[in-house]
Amino acid sequence: DAHKETLGFQTEVKQLLNLMIHSLYSNKEIFLRELVSNAADAADKLRFEALSDDALYEDDAELKIRVEFDKDKNTVTISDNGIGMTREEVIENIGTIARSGTRKFFDNLTGDQTKDSQLIGQFGVGFYSAFIVADKVTLKTRRAGLTAEHGVQWESAGEGEFTIETIEKPQRGTEITLHLREGEEEFANGWRLRNIITKYSDHINLPILMAKEPLPNEDGEIDEADKGDETINKATALWTLSKNDITEDQYKEFYKQIAHDYQDPMLWSHNKVEGNIEYTSLLYIPSKAPFDMWDRDRMHGIKLYVKRVFIMEDSEQLMPRYLRFVRGVIDTNDLPLNVSREILQSSKTIDTIRAASVKKVLSEISKLAKNEPEQYAEFWKEFGQVLKEGPGEDFANKETLAKLFRFATTESGSSDQTVSLEDYVSRMKDKQEKIYYITAESYAAAKNSPHLEVFRKKGIEVLLLTDRVDEWLVNSLTEFDDKHLQSVAKGDLDLGELEDEEEKKAQEETDKNFEDLVERVKKSLEDKVKDVRITHRLTDSPACLVADNYDMSMNLERMLKAAGQ
Ligand code: ADP
Ligand code: MG
Repeated sequence: DAHKETLGFQTEVKQLLNLMIHSLYSNKEIFLRELVSNAADAADKLRFEALSDDALYEDDAELKIRVEFDKDKNTVTISDNGIGMTREEVIENIGTIARSGTRKFFDNLTGDQTKDSQLIGQFGVGFYSAFIVADKVTLKTRRAGLTAEHGVQWESAGEGEFTIETIEKPQRGTEITLHLREGEEEFANGWRLRNIITKYSDHINLPILMAKEPLPNEDGEIDEADKGDETINKATALWTLSKNDITEDQYKEFYKQIAHDYQDPMLWSHNKVEGNIEYTSLLYIPSKAPFDMWDRDRMHGIKLYVKRVFIMEDSEQLMPRYLRFVRGVIDTNDLPLNVSREILQSSKTIDTIRAASVKKVLSEISKLAKNEPEQYAEFWKEFGQVLKEGPGEDFANKETLAKLFRFATTESGSSDQTVSLEDYVSRMKDKQEKIYYITAESYAAAKNSPHLEVFRKKGIEVLLLTDRVDEWLVNSLTEFDDKHLQSVAKGDLDLGELEDEEEKKAQEETDKNFEDLVERVKKSLEDKVKDVRITHRLTDSPACLVADNYDMSMNLERMLKAAGQ
């Protein structure tokens, strides 16, 4: 009983397909990279599961990928002997949108073709890219560990529904056949396919095989030695090579493959560390914020390998949360192959690797800030808000981080965050001891706050903090360069040495003259306020609210209220 059923795609899948076919038309060949990378992932998963259950290899332990084509039938087939899928897994992974961040992807669609294609780039295209060149896709698969009669066949024209049925499949793994669309015959061609494989998948760490296509010899015959399969790719893990043997393009292609991004990375850092703990890391900073950056159950991050065996992709143990946009690979010889998430959590080796990797990433970012301010501005736009979570999470690197921050200020004259704390300090007034800031819900609200009046009058620069994360930032970053960060909206405004004697006297006089008034206002407001004071911080506005130095700021209070707390 083949138990054949026809199921509908989620409507989102249909939308995704349409969008993809149109926006990736000029870059069609990437379908092969996506399918090969899925096959490689499937091999990684099998290797990992087989660590605790050797039987999963059956009698076929040499993991590989095969690419075949049939000119007459106009098909291309990609097969692997990786982990395979059960019927349920096929329905879940191929028929629905299972990947995190997808919902956000659809929420972000604008209908503008150019913008949406960029989105699809950040989101990664995956399995469905097969439909760019195919008008029918047939997938046959069998999960490792199940018997031959538990094979599954999935088939779809990519137009809203798919069929699924049980088949007999002796070989473990997955085989995907693309029935090429009219006009896409170019892909049923050995030369073209070899070309695409070496371009995108050279450093997949398992062999990609194709049948040899030998020319006949003088006698019109083909030598025995020229028959059979050949390996098309280099099949070495890129990070194991020495830097001098890797081209920029290879670094970029590798990034695209592991990060599911199709834009170039902003920068990368490749390190071989020897000594107490030996490991290699290849870490990338994307040029655009990854789709799932604000997603709580995001999974992407750093891929951990032990002795070149893929162990897991992790988003927490290997990088702190505030560097969650970093992508890459860490490969070490100093962990056991059967390492688990639990072991990772308390592993000294991991702690060491992580600390060094964080330092490396921060030093690369610092270099960018110093040497390429324009690129750094781009970086800051994409990742600044996440980086500002840093001081609260990573005490050890607080100072390095503080130097990386950029803010809008009363002097910068625009909402763009461009001023560093070092800039600010270098512009401080003669007797100014503190770094002043104001937090508010928007740039306009900050800029027009009455609290700034006295600072304007005295020509003192004030940081305008309007990102949600800024409230948390000022809680954890209280000092820079031995200078206290002081809210202009909190407590007694003590401008210290900045006030001159005459002004002070005049202020004391005013205070005395208005004592009665203050008492009356206090009485009439009773317990609505803590205190009423004469102020010298205003020049134009008649009154303003201030918070106590140790109270929550009013902006934070507003945010908590909005969040229902
Ligand atoms: P991603 O690779 O980012 O998860 P894809 O759209 O490329 O997204 O693939 C979706 C899912 O389908 C994969 O996560 C995997 O579970 C499953 N899958 C795809 N190809 C294979 C394969 N060759 N072998 C086993 N599972 C596969
Ligand atoms: Mg994929």
